Amino acid sequence: MMNKEKSKALFEQAKKYFPGGVNSPVRAFKSVGGSPLFIKKGKGAKITDADGNEYIDFCCSFGPLILGHAHEKVLSAVTETAADGTSFGAPTEKENELADLILSNHNYIERIRFVNSGTEAAMSAIRLARGYTGRNKIIKFEGCYHGHVDSLLVKAGSGLATLGTSSSAGVPEGTIQDTIVLPLNNKDAVEEAVTKYKGEIAAIALEPIPANNGLLLQEKEYLQFLRDVCDREGILLFFDEVISGFRVGFEGAAGYYDIKPDVAAYGKIIGGGLPVGAYGASAEVMNTVAPEGPVYQAGTLSGNPVAMAAGIAQISECLKPGFYDELEMKTEIFCREVQRHAEEKGYPVSLPHKGSIFWTAFSSDKIQSAADIPQNSGELFKKMHAELLERGIYIGPSGFEVGFISEAHTDDNMNEAVECFKESLDAIFK
Ligand SMILES: *Cc1c(COP(=O)(O)O)cnc(C)c1O
Repeated sequence: MMNKEKSKALFEQAKKYFPGGVNSPVRAFKSVGGSPLFIKKGKGAKITDADGNEYIDFCCSFGPLILGHAHEKVLSAVTETAADGTSFGAPTEKENELADLILSNHNYIERIRFVNSGTEAAMSAIRLARGYTGRNKIIKFEGCYHGHVDSLLVKAGSGLATLGTSSSAGVPEGTIQDTIVLPLNNKDAVEEAVTKYKGEIAAIALEPIPANNGLLLQEKEYLQFLRDVCDREGILLFFDEVISGFRVGFEGAAGYYDIKPDVAAYGKIIGGGLPVGAYGASAEVMNTVAPEGPVYQAGTLSGNPVAMAAGIAQISECLKPGFYDELEMKTEIFCREVQRHAEEKGYPVSLPHKGSIFWTAFSSDKIQSAADIPQNSGELFKKMHAELLERGIYIGPSGFEVGFISEAHTDDNMNEAVECFKESLDAIFK
């Protein structure tokens, strides 16, 4: 067994400072047991914990690190920019640079506003949709996550097209009374809701590539259906691309499926590993935002020059020819190899993937909605997580989290990972 004494001691100390010892709940290893690893450093595809154990990292900070850890160009952009001051509360050229890099290579949005997190981006996008349409209700889907925004922390109630119930304490009934929660991949549920609340729905919000409750890949045809319903009903289609943006292609899921959202939110990759979020839309819709329009939204550190510099450095790399094809190929091979092993041995395991996002599903069936996920997945994931860690593979500590592959993952890393996944599955199903 690996020595994890230092991580354990640091966690004991952290529990005196932070609720549950962490600054974001999924880090706490609650669903897999034991203490979280404290990470000392990362380079390329590898991270080293406080005890000096090394892992190939498939968490990649839950998505932002598409170039891997401590990429030279991102690092030098950050240090050079920080040397000239870290924040001014006044515009800087770096904001123009990152915006220009994005907008001149993106056919689906015309204006953008930088914020500080994915949560802030989603929250602001919802406000914008409401302000623009003058309507209050939002449709969201069970199995999609949009950050810890009050009105979106809602789970399905009983029955289709009924109002949901809050999935967090501290969210008043009044805050969620305008949120309608529907199952994914179910057109009737959408039709029923837009009929029932005709003229009241501001936005249909979803992750076009739902990747926060496993990887619940939707058909393009279903996404197009949502686009058509929105056009027909005067509803804005809101793509939360905080994971998929700059991940499955530079233009995210919008570009991947060639479906234009009316509003989109970004985060994770856009900041090169520093805290950045953004929301964007057509010029007409974005001009509803202050100071141009009546929808208020602001931020002391928004467009922070150091974070902008990291974003510029990272997404410039993403624009290199073949960047996404190579990542997709690497992911495809990895998933195929592991899944083939599972099929040969008769394990109920499949590895759905899109771009460089993958997930281990404990089922051989296609999983397209939260309800499709087998009940025993949590127990199996817990075992797999422990087996992988022991073999030097780090993945997010929850079975609902997807894995990410970065440019820095070498063929050697990937081959090693294939073997470790195979051995771990053998250990679980032996
Ligand atoms: C991570 C995520 C968010 C929240 O972003 P934070 O930066 O954690 O606030 C919102 N939406 C989606 C789809 C995400 O994956």
